[in-house]
Amino acid sequence: MRYHVAALLLEPVGSVRESLLDEPMPPLDADVVAVAPVRGQVRLLRSGRGILASATLATRLRLACSRCLGDTEEEITFSFDEEFRPTVDLVTGVPLPAPDASEECSLIDEYHIIDLTDVVRQNALLALPMKPLCQKSCPGLCPVCGERRDGTCRCAEAEEPARAEGPMAEALRTWLASQGNR
Ligand SMILES: [Zn+2]
Ligand SMILES: [Zn+2]
Repeated sequence: MRYHVAALLLEPVGSVRESLLDEPMPPLDADVVAVAPVRGQVRLLRSGRGILASATLATRLRLACSRCLGDTEEEITFSFDEEFRPTVDLVTGVPLPAPDASEECSLIDEYHIIDLTDVVRQNALLALPMKPLCQKSCPGLCPVCGERRDGTCRCAEAEEPARAEGPMAEALRTWLASQGNR
């Protein structure tokens, strides 16, 4: 995800380079793994102060279902616009003053290379689904044994509401039964 931008920096403001990105996704997180390359259009625009990198990218991730914690896969798509500022003067090679800390931008290195890896990783993390599900109807985990509640565990009876006890409850049940028998 590295782009050499010396030539573009020498062009007039507004000049554009478009290219297709198709590369392995940078590592994201311990429990989020990309299972497909990250792909999409990258546009580099010569701006007044440097290079504006814009992209719309997509990839496919394997992550944990928020209900049953099993593996699930989801497509994510994300976009960004990130300004990169030069750190050295292109013609003289003299270092340029660093941008203000308050100005949010990335830097073009002293070899005139833009590296999108961090920007891609950060924006992919922002695009992670809040509550991924392996399927819309995922039954989640059994609160008793902790297994996925898909009918294989034997705790179903234990989850029934407790049977009311006492003479009043017994009388009510008898009455309800008699009503049903009419
Ligand atoms: Zn699930
Ligand atoms: Zn169970």
